[in-house]
Amino acid sequence: MELDDLYRRVIMDHYKNPRNRGTLDEDALTINLNNPTCGDRITLQLQVEDGIVKQAKFTGEGCSISMSSASMMTEAVHGKTTDEALALAAKFSSFIKGEVTEFDELEDIEALSGVTKFPARIKCATLGWNALRKGIEHQQQQ
Ligand code: ZN
Repeated sequence: MELDDLYRRVIMDHYKNPRNRGTLDEDALTINLNNPTCGDRITLQLQVEDGIVKQAKFTGEGCSISMSSASMMTEAVHGKTTDEALALAAKFSSFIKGEVTEFDELEDIEALSGVTKFPARIKCATLGWNALRKGIEHQQQQ
């Protein structure tokens, strides 16, 4: 199988069977973000306890890139400390710009490597990660 086909399958799997799709209690940290250029929107909810991301769930709608990337993000940060989660978000920014090519923490993410060639889609891929960063930064300021 060609690598491109494999990557497409991984993306479509996360799009059709999103991990951690759903909602948490109302008192969970809630972040709404959208990407007007594509029409993607996401609501991310985080349950952070003792500095650890216990749960990350999302709802929303949008293109396969935005939704699959959000699904991968919730998997990648589950059980991580907030600092580790922020470091992963920073690594993802480098990855999606093509500065980093491997993503050992969650290899599924490497399936998004094709997005680096399409600058217009980068905002799709980073939507969920930006919501994560916003939520954690807000939480750390409290
Ligand atoms: Zn999109």
